[in-house]
Amino acid sequence: MTPNIDRNQQLFDRARQVIPGGVNSPVRAFRAVGGTPRFVQRAQGAYFWDANGQRYIDYIGSWGPMILGHGHPAVVEAVQKAALDGFSFGAPTEREVELAEEILRLVPSMEMVRLVSSGTEAAMSAIRLARGATGRNKLIKFEGCYHGHADALLVKAGSGLATFGNPTSAGVPPEVVQHTIVLEYNNIEQLEEAFALHGRDLACLIIEPIAGNMNFVRAGIAFMQRCRELCTEYGALLVFDEVMTGFRVALGGAQSVYAQSIPGFAPDISVLGKVIGGGMPLAAFGGPRAIMEQLAPLGPVYQAGTLSGNPVATACGLATLREIGKPGFFDALSASTLSLVQGLQSAARAAGVPFCGDCQGGMFGFFLLDALPQTYGQVMKTDGPMFNRLFHGLLDRGIYIAPALYEAGFVSSAHSQQDIAQTVAAAHEIFQTSPPRG
Ligand SMILES: *Cc1c(COP(=O)(O)O)cnc(C)c1O
Repeated sequence: MTPNIDRNQQLFDRARQVIPGGVNSPVRAFRAVGGTPRFVQRAQGAYFWDANGQRYIDYIGSWGPMILGHGHPAVVEAVQKAALDGFSFGAPTEREVELAEEILRLVPSMEMVRLVSSGTEAAMSAIRLARGATGRNKLIKFEGCYHGHADALLVKAGSGLATFGNPTSAGVPPEVVQHTIVLEYNNIEQLEEAFALHGRDLACLIIEPIAGNMNFVRAGIAFMQRCRELCTEYGALLVFDEVMTGFRVALGGAQSVYAQSIPGFAPDISVLGKVIGGGMPLAAFGGPRAIMEQLAPLGPVYQAGTLSGNPVATACGLATLREIGKPGFFDALSASTLSLVQGLQSAARAAGVPFCGDCQGGMFGFFLLDALPQTYGQVMKTDGPMFNRLFHGLLDRGIYIAPALYEAGFVSSAHSQQDIAQTVAAAHEIFQTSPPRG
């Protein structure tokens, strides 16, 4: 490695000639924070190495899937074995049944599940199923929640109360989102008003129960309870998008966390992704038998996929779920995550930097604010320049957090106390040398 040749920059320049923005998913381009994206060469445990051979402690873990860290031996073995038996058949396999059984065991609100290849596909299919099963068209989503990039879900809030959304992306005709109602997260009054106006036309309400696409914002207990009650009262389906939170915040997902505070709580349809594939393209959606049997080939709601239930991906997912299901796994992971968040909090406090963090299981978030935000509007008030200083300060010290302040972070079982202590010490140094706010 020649120190004055930056291989990351070279690769980025090359990538930009052939791939739009040089990346295959926009956030990877570092547009929000500036600088050169790190091209990953390899990864092991809690670390990855970039094209310059520089090591980083990885707090993204492929945006959640790598809950065991990279290259966990049991997972690698399962994947290698599966690959030798064939990559894809377009015909059913025993392993799909095994994975489905394992998912239903861990998430008891689901009686049946269908496997797909991405979270986008799972959320899109769940919406179609909800519409098909209810015979209704309208849906509620919340500002700041991401459910993949299906047309009907790519909407942010209009300014007024219970407004129909405008597409967030070019290429989405307004007619396609005319049935999508966008509300403020954690706003019970708006929710009640929307149901009073549209309740009988609503196919579903889709929500990230702990929103990880606006950093880390919990739906309040009372708000969640109201979502459940109103859906039941009006015959709309409650769709939990647990693509990020599933098998990540707890073995039973965010729904198991809410069930601790709301007796008997369960969503109607769950959408899963990320951890479920352990780093391979795999996602799923599921719910009660009567709803799931509306899907083709049994029912009228069409849904299909050439690579769905892929044998290598299912091997990876199954091995991952078996590891995280071992006794004590989530207790240890939660303790690591909490120690990171508390460490960052005290580093910020020592320097007089406004900071608030929160976490659940192996997922965390923090805001350079005095209080935890409840809505996307409040999230937007976080201190951008301070975040960028922290991001680049950590990156320079070999620590990789999400390159945008609206993203959650992830701790894996491979992160050691030493990794976390090193991260906290780095943050301490950065906060101490940052110019005061204002
Ligand atoms: C990541 C994510 C998606 C989209 O999943 P992809 O596999 O990227 O298509 C959907 N919903 C939530 C909550 C997510 O975090």
